[in-house]
Amino acid sequence: MNYPLRRSCKEVAHMVVAMQDKSLSLKEAAEMRLHMAICKACPGFENQFLTISSAMRQWRNYTGEEDTGNGKSS
Ligand SMILES: [Zn+2]
Repeated sequence: MNYPLRRSCKEVAHMVVAMQDKSLSLKEAAEMRLHMAICKACPGFENQFLTISSAMRQWRNYTGEEDTGNGKSS
């Protein structure tokens, strides 16, 4: 049986990653959640990925953004 809403782990992993840059459509989000509910591996992957990517984001903000001139006298 091939359910139309069923996504492979690979696709779901892609969605988790894509979700960081652009928001998913309602359909994609629903498909992802559905897969998360029945899969043992993907929720763990999502957790790890979100932890890493939020850490990366903080790091990127920290090093990538120079606050020039804001409240500083130069
Ligand atoms: Zn999966």
